[in-house]
Amino acid sequence: MQTPSHHVSASANLALLTGARRVVIKVGSTLLVDEQDGRLKANWLASLVDDVQALVRRGQCPLVVTSGAIAIGRRRLGLPAGRLKLRQSQAAAAVGQIELTAVYAEVLARAGLTAAQILLTLDDTEQRGRYLNARDTLETLLAQGAVPIINENDTVATAEIRYGDNDRLAARVAQLASAECLVLLSDVDALYDADPRRSKDARPIAVVTRITPELEQVAGSTQSAYGTGGMVTKLAAARIATAAGCSMVIASGRVTHPIAALEAGARCTWFPASASAVSVRKQWIASHLQLSGAYQVDAGAARALVAGKSLLPAGALRLDGSFERGDAVAVLDPQGREIGRGLSAYASAEAARLLGRHTSEIEAILGYRGREVLIHRDDLVLATCQDAADDS
Ligand code: GLU
Repeated sequence: MQTPSHHVSASANLALLTGARRVVIKVGSTLLVDEQDGRLKANWLASLVDDVQALVRRGQCPLVVTSGAIAIGRRRLGLPAGRLKLRQSQAAAAVGQIELTAVYAEVLARAGLTAAQILLTLDDTEQRGRYLNARDTLETLLAQGAVPIINENDTVATAEIRYGDNDRLAARVAQLASAECLVLLSDVDALYDADPRRSKDARPIAVVTRITPELEQVAGSTQSAYGTGGMVTKLAAARIATAAGCSMVIASGRVTHPIAALEAGARCTWFPASASAVSVRKQWIASHLQLSGAYQVDAGAARALVAGKSLLPAGALRLDGSFERGDAVAVLDPQGREIGRGLSAYASAEAARLLGRHTSEIEAILGYRGREVLIHRDDLVLATCQDAADDS
């Protein structure tokens, strides 16, 4: 019997989530904040954190982009219902953000996880210098196993200089973190071919491979009372994410354990990435402007790297420079020619002690069980890639 094709594609799409190294989860205000009393929905958040913990256990790195600061703060300050003036939302965010982060930190701590608050302004992703700075901080936090809890810095964001919606912010964060999957959780469970509130015949779209003008038209603007983003900002987010090699999925956050529900086959809309995440990540590694150091390797290791292997301590002859774990470094052959670039799994101080040593000795040398490699092959780009491809 043949498996129906939509089942095949459904499981292939799920692999975009389960196989992702880094997953950005965007949480809309409506999910987190009770519309009646402005309270945080603690049970729902606890269930989301269960899902986050499951990702961590599977070896994945979750990042959360969360809305809710303004929705919480406006109640605390007794601001009127309806649309707020910019300075009112700025004030509301100042109050609400404290509670928002505190609750995340508490619930994550109960799951044994460390929350890290990051408040971004538009400039942090649009200006190259600040983009790199923000990226370094993110990399450091992720390397240390913290779970970033990210929102726009609404208190200082002005009308002209703000994302304004967390859908696009989340897509920029996915790009910043070289994430492979972005999950948009909100009160809508999918993209429909017509407005489901107006048309009974509206059907959900399972997979979008190209965002056409027609689709954008259908998306219209389905604003909910709390959130800022409608389908238009979700499509804009999909454009940003997929172009950066990150697949995106729109799924319902109205259920508890929303990620588990998604994995169990809940309705959703997938936007598979246009380029492979690895290649985009490798492009990013290759396009590093500043290398922090270099490993010089022996001839055997150089051959192994070309054959697609990771760089082991045993094959490294010497290192140059002073770098931290995760920094980009050059890989030099015995003649000192650059044969590739990669992200070092060790800081230079530790790596220096491992040069030429066998992987089985790492624990005895460092006093803890570190990584088995100096540079993992997923974090390595060979300068000869292009030549090799041309030869074949
Ligand atoms: N950053 C806003 C907040 O935390 C929400 C923006 C959005 O709803 O997309 O309140």
